[in-house]
Amino acid sequence: MSKILVLAEHEKGHVKKVTLNTLAFARQLAAKTGASIDIAVLGKGVGDIAEKLRGYGAGTVHVADHAELEHPIASAWAKTLADLATSIGATVVTAPASTIGKDVLPRVAARLAAGMASDVVGIVDTAKGPAFRRPMWAGNLMGDAFIKTKTQVISVRASAFDAAEASGGSSALAAFAAQPDLAKSRVRFVKFDGVQSTRPDLTEASIVVAGGRGLKPEKGGFGAIEPLADLLGAAIGASRAAVDDGYAPNDYQIGQTGKVVAPQLYFAIAISGAVQHLAGMKNSKVIVAINTRDDEPIFKVADYGLVADAFVAVPELVAKIKAMRG
Ligand SMILES: Cc1cc2nc3c(=O)[nH]c(=O)nc-3n(C[C@H](O)[C@H](O)[C@H](O)COP(=O)(O)OP(=O)(O)OC[C@H]3O[C@@H](n4cnc5c(N)ncnc54)[C@H](O)[C@@H]3O)c2cc1C
Repeated sequence: MSKILVLAEHEKGHVKKVTLNTLAFARQLAAKTGASIDIAVLGKGVGDIAEKLRGYGAGTVHVADHAELEHPIASAWAKTLADLATSIGATVVTAPASTIGKDVLPRVAARLAAGMASDVVGIVDTAKGPAFRRPMWAGNLMGDAFIKTKTQVISVRASAFDAAEASGGSSALAAFAAQPDLAKSRVRFVKFDGVQSTRPDLTEASIVVAGGRGLKPEKGGFGAIEPLADLLGAAIGASRAAVDDGYAPNDYQIGQTGKVVAPQLYFAIAISGAVQHLAGMKNSKVIVAINTRDDEPIFKVADYGLVADAFVAVPELVAKIKAMRG
């Protein structure tokens, strides 16, 4: 029987939401193909992560616990994942199309001589079996990729799949004797310079307040939207123009060349709605746009639009929410 192997992504002892989105993709594929699902947890001291993932209906949660896997160095993770896939006879290896997934999966595909579809947003039935739908040209076109190799590698655009719920039960646990061979790699871990923030992770937040180039620093810049984000417990994002002009840090960027998000609520404030920006947020459940111009493309995807100066409208919105909350 075919078997889908899902690479779990985790950080500081918690399972990242993108893993659950990828599990949802795996469940859809399994429902179409009759495949079983296994989960791979790689890292150092990751027993708790594996334990948390046992409730998601997988046949087995494989744990590759090894000092050389502590940091997600692509060469070591890819070798381990490919070795594991081979040893259990996985026919599909999948992971989120995150920074880690984009780094690791092409190497896995090369090691397994497998065809790969990246950034998959859906599964399409064809006479030959499932094909994988993926956006092309910043989402202006959709392509359906049919993979001909026996083993298939698929990265998943997490925002296209609702996070899998725990399904109860308790998967088997299996230790995998990883041989990451880090010494043979030309890559060394130096340090992880993570962003220190009290705000939620942009890709995990249920509310995102994003600002664009209209938030001129001389008028108040991103400081104008921070109170709204604080009030709503939201993450802050930005358009590329705002990042390029130095209004916001690089890791805030949303879009084709930034992060892809799909929160419950997305504020696009002083963002025109260029196609490259929409590529990163148009799957958001509810979109609110605030812009001085009523003819900007952002209003075509917005559920609620306010034609107003952000530096006036956002403080008013904050005051009204505070008043409503008493
Ligand atoms: C290959 C490639 C990749 C790209 N990748 C990305 C990407 O990942 N993400 C991304 O965002 N872009 C990306 N871009 C850039 C994209 O094409 C746009 O240039 C960019 O999204 C524009 O950002 P913006 O809407 O903030 O700026 P602008 O287009 O300059 O829009 C500013 C908006 O602010 C409004 N405004 C001005 N003042 C106010 C005010 N006081 N109150 C309210 N509204 C106001 C204006 O009416 C306008 O709509 C990419 C481009 C290319 C070519």
